[in-house]
Order: sequence, then C-alpha cells, then structure tokens
Amino acid sequence: MTIDLRVLGELKRACGDLTTAREELLLYSFDATKIKHTPDCVLFPRSTKEVTGVVNICARHGIPVTPRGAGTGYTGAAVPVQGGVVMDFVKMNRILRIDHNAMYVEVEPGIVNAELGKELAKHGLFYPPDPASLKSSTIGGNVMTGAGGPSAVKYGVTRDYVMGLTAVFMDGSVVETGIKCVKGAVGYDLTRLLVGSEGTLAIITKIRLKLVPMPKTVVTAMAVFDDRRVAVNAVTEILRARLVPRTLEYIDRTAIRCVEEYLRAGLPVDAGGMLLAETDGDPGPAMREMEGIKAICEKLGARSFTIARDTAEAQAFWKVRRSISVSLNRLRPSKINEDVTVPRNRIGELMDRLDELSRRTGLPIVNFGHAGDGNIHVNVMTDASNPKEYEVALKAVDEILHITLELDGTLSGEHGVGLAKMPYIEKELGTACVEISKRLKKAFDPAGLLNPGKIFP
Ligand SMILES: Cc1cc2nc3c(=O)[nH]c(=O)nc-3n(C[C@H](O)[C@H](O)[C@H](O)COP(=O)(O)OP(=O)(O)OC[C@H]3O[C@@H](n4cnc5c(N)ncnc54)[C@H](O)[C@@H]3O)c2cc1C
Repeated sequence: MTIDLRVLGELKRACGDLTTAREELLLYSFDATKIKHTPDCVLFPRSTKEVTGVVNICARHGIPVTPRGAGTGYTGAAVPVQGGVVMDFVKMNRILRIDHNAMYVEVEPGIVNAELGKELAKHGLFYPPDPASLKSSTIGGNVMTGAGGPSAVKYGVTRDYVMGLTAVFMDGSVVETGIKCVKGAVGYDLTRLLVGSEGTLAIITKIRLKLVPMPKTVVTAMAVFDDRRVAVNAVTEILRARLVPRTLEYIDRTAIRCVEEYLRAGLPVDAGGMLLAETDGDPGPAMREMEGIKAICEKLGARSFTIARDTAEAQAFWKVRRSISVSLNRLRPSKINEDVTVPRNRIGELMDRLDELSRRTGLPIVNFGHAGDGNIHVNVMTDASNPKEYEVALKAVDEILHITLELDGTLSGEHGVGLAKMPYIEKELGTACVEISKRLKKAFDPAGLLNPGKIFP
C-alpha cells in the first residue's frame, strides 16, 4: 500500500519523528529471517500519547501498523507484510522506576535486555530471562515473543516475569493491565494473554517486570561425553537428582567441530557431545550443587568435567556456546533454524530421529541449545540458492515439526510463530483452538490492522 501525502502530514503531526526515505525503509523490511516486505513509513514514538495518536490515524485510514523492537526475531513477526506503518520503539527505552521494596522495575519497551541487566546489577537486582540476543533485543520484543534463554531451567522465561503492561489498542484505548504485588486474582489475565501475542493484539508502551535478588555466585562447568546419548541422558539424571542447575546447554558433535574450526580453542572434536552447566546462589551451596552435577556426569561416563576456576574460564566456555550459530556457515551457506521443544526425557528420541533424517536427506542437521528445558535449536543446513536442495531442506523441516508433535513437544519454545511457523500451528493447536484465537484477535482488532498476516493462516 502507499500512504498519501495528506495522511503522512497527519502522522507527522501525531509523531514528529518519521521517515519515508527508501534506504531507511529497507532497514525495516526484514528481521533475522530472510523474509522481506518494505513498509511505507517508519515512526519513532516517544510516548504513549504519540502511539495513541498514530493508532487513531491508522485506524481511521485503514493503514496497517507493525510494532518493532530490534528486529532480531527468528520468525518474521516484525516484518510488515502488508506495508503501512512500522513503529520502532528505539526512542522509548527508559527505565521509569525501580521499586526495591516491591521488587519490580518499570521500563519502556525499547530498552535493550542487557542494558536493563547492567543497570539492575548496580542495585543488586536480577531480571533472569537471557535470550542469546540479549545485547541487541529489546524487552518489548522479548515480552511480545515470550523469549527464553539458558537460565530458564531454574528461573523460567519472560512470561514468568511480566507483572503488568500499558497497552494501546487499535480503537485508541489505553489499558493498564496486571498488578504491583506478588499475586492477584481479579478478572481475566490480560497481561498473560498479551505476552507472546507478537504485536497482533495491542501495542505495548510500558512494562512492569518482577525482579529477584542478584545471586552472589555463578559456578560454570563444561562436561565432555564420548557418546551423545549419554550427554542427553545426563540432563534427565541431573534433574531427577533434585539438583537445580541454572543452565544446562547441549552442544552436539557437528557444532563442536564447527566451533573448533572457527575459534581454534582446542575443543575435543572427537567427542559425541558436550554440556555447559551452571549453578548459582550462595558460594557454598552453588559449588555443592555443581559437585552433585559432576558426580552424576562422571558416574555416567563423562570423559571430562571441568569447573571454571575464574570468570575468564567461564567466559571461554560461554564463548564456545555463543559461537555455534556463526560457525555453522562452514557446513552450508544457509540454515533453517527451528526451536522445537520436547519433554526433557524425550530429547534422546528426538536426536535419534534427527540423525536418521540427516542421513536420509544428506543434509547436515546440527543440534544445540537449552537441553535443560527440552528446547533444542535444530539447524537444517542447506544452500538456499540451490532450489532442489532447498526444497529437500523445507521438507526436512516439515518432518522435524511432525516428529516434535509426535514426541508430545511444541513447535516453538521461545521464538514464536510469526510467518515462519504459521502453516503448522493448526497441527499443534487444533482447529477449535485456532478458531477461538482468531475470534479473540477480531475482538481486539476488528479491522485486522495490527501486525496483520501473522500467527494465523
Ligand atoms: C543471534 C540470535 C540469538 C537469539 N537467541 C534467542 C534466544 O536465546 N531466545 C529467544 O527467545 N530468542 C532468541 N532470538 C530471537 C529474538 O532475539 C527474540 O525473539 C527477541 O525477543 C526479539 O526481540 P526484538 O527486540 O528483536 O523484537 P522484534 O524482532 O523487533 O519483534 C518481535 C515481535 O515483537 C513485536 N513487538 C516489538 N515491540 C513491540 C511493542 N512495543 N508492542 C507490541 N509488539 C511489539 C513485534 O511486532 C514482533 O511481533 C535470537 C535471535 C538472534 C538473531
């Protein structure tokens, strides 16, 4: 669509900060996927009032509105498929209030996750959700995708920390949802409905997040296993032993080899798999928990178990984990990244079936990620410029999603649906659930202008 000059003038009066420059619009046409649709105009609001003003104009003229954080999403959720207006929250990035007594923080949606973390650390406070994109992704984007990260094993995901929101709806109404206390049971839980709604129900302009005390110590360790099956089994055994790791990340054999080629860090390239484990809390108990994890891994036959002696060594372990994504392009120029999740005791079955699929299709499938909560990043490596191979890769993805559902899993543990998983959601949710969800969307956004074309086919 194109927005005529008269309407652009109205938008400019509602929100002075706006661009229609072609080269800038292109920057807002994609996220971390390769999907591209260019908006007609990008706005940079600074207040709820400006957001409401823009929404009213868009509703009056039938212009689609797509809210956007940092555009790091893996599903195309922030891509403006029908053009129109993109609302970038980069200029609404303030910490509005830290309440030490009630243990919450109020922020604008555009604040970057790691920036918030740094500020809270100065006060001895901790906001645990830690997506690997934390240095660039925004709290608004995290809330709207229900983001998770390595610490979810112990602390849960973004959804578990959102106490309340300020939401602007497409009829221009502004609603404060949620509570300021530890619990509440009044009315429908609009907060939880909006979390993970991928900007399709409301635009969020303020977020209240629960905080916990900053743990005094973090203990980090790396375990190396000859056999991938034993590494995966260790995850279940550790959790069954009533130990509470903060993090349990799995790295498969191919990922180890790719990272080694990339970092030259002396990694055991003949290993079947590795686990990166963390515990936290007071120094004594945190170390005792880690000793418990070590004992289990060694009993199961780990080749080595190294507890980091200092922060530098811990960071070196994390560097290995964080280098996986970037190192994979050694295998093939393109990757299709799925974030399927299965019950933890079924990770082994998932891996066996992925190995078989990889052998059958001839495509490398690399698996790593948050094994402690069953959330595995499955990467089908391919060459998108080779149509024949790409088609095989897409069929493999289809099969992976079916396998996941057969194993009682879910298609996405943290990235959400957006455009990428849209064709599959009925298979997981069922027709009745999709229909009732569409009715909800209609109640919130009758004209279908807010982030249109997402989640539901
Ligand atoms: C290298 C890399 C690593 C990653 N690791 C992880 C990981 O470990 N865990 C994980 O969960 N994800 C991960 N992701 C995916 C991504 O970072 C997350 O989905 C993140 O939450 C997106 O935040 P964002 O600010 O980039 O939002 P965007 O991608 O810009 O937007 C995401 C969604 O939020 C909506 N939105 C944004 N702001 C608002 C608002 N104010 N009001 C209403 N809707 C809004 C958008 O419309 C869109 O639907 C990773 C991505 C990359 C590139």
